[in-house]
Amino acid sequence: MIFDVVTIFPDFFTSILGQGMLKRALAGGQVEIRLHDLRAFTDDAHRTVDDRPFGGGPGMVFKPEPVFRAVDALRAESGPPSFPVILLSPQGRLLRQPVAEQLARQARVVLICGRYEGVDQRVAEHLVTEELSIGDYVLSGGEIAAAVVMEAVTRLLPGVLGNEESHIEESFAPIAAVSDRRLDFAQERPEGLDAKDAAIPAAGLSRSGQHGLLDFPQYTRPAEFRGYKVPEVLLSGNHEEIRRWRRRAALEKTWRRRPDLLATLPLSGEDRRTLEEIKSTALEPVAW
Ligand code: SAH
Repeated sequence: MIFDVVTIFPDFFTSILGQGMLKRALAGGQVEIRLHDLRAFTDDAHRTVDDRPFGGGPGMVFKPEPVFRAVDALRAESGPPSFPVILLSPQGRLLRQPVAEQLARQARVVLICGRYEGVDQRVAEHLVTEELSIGDYVLSGGEIAAAVVMEAVTRLLPGVLGNEESHIEESFAPIAAVSDRRLDFAQERPEGLDAKDAAIPAAGLSRSGQHGLLDFPQYTRPAEFRGYKVPEVLLSGNHEEIRRWRRRAALEKTWRRRPDLLATLPLSGEDRRTLEEIKSTALEPVAW
């Protein structure tokens, strides 16, 4: 997969590309990250990318011409016939795990990093395919947002994570919920509904934009640290009990911290029963 990043600060990315998962994915060829200096697409001696806002007000705004030229140049290159051209913006669609999964299916993605007061509106309206936000707060530039997108997407690409750090069973991962729901249907399918109708395609869950639960709590050695003990069941070696404990812990954490995620999640019969139990005995949800 190729990321083309359009930025006035290409050097910004040096450290994040030089270590950890992204470094490995670059070395392994699963991802290619190409940094494009927006100033290379200007045509004046000062390499001007910004100008004062029409209508007045503080700050500067990215001019449309260099951004249009940069994207035109990238689109003119040979490669996949069409690909997302994304403007990082606090006004965009929120980056959530299903969005990262969608992007991970693309062969190429262009990321445009704004600065100052933002980017001339004509870029959003007539050039890019979408605007993407990494959260409801304002950054000074799109570079960190672009890095977040690349990090979240690259780790989903086949071969990037080893088994030992698989993303199948972590927060927001939809897979476990799907397979559980399949079991549920097999056991509790209403009369007259045949298996074909009941089956949910694994990919369908993410395509429909749904999330999984938050991850269950993780522990490692030592089993006791400063008097704080690891839950007994995790030391038991009983895989079925460990599975049930983890599922319950994930359900409880999600219910307490992110009830919004639970609202859209298809839960198995076992999950629903566990959740009722949790609700009747556990602490109240956390109001962040
Ligand atoms: N005036 C704009 C904010 C501009 S911030 C507004 O109020 O909407 C400058 C640049 O930082 C933006 O063009 C965008 O590329 C980037 N940026 C800021 N916050 C962001 C966020 N939450 N997600 C993605 N990009 C963001």
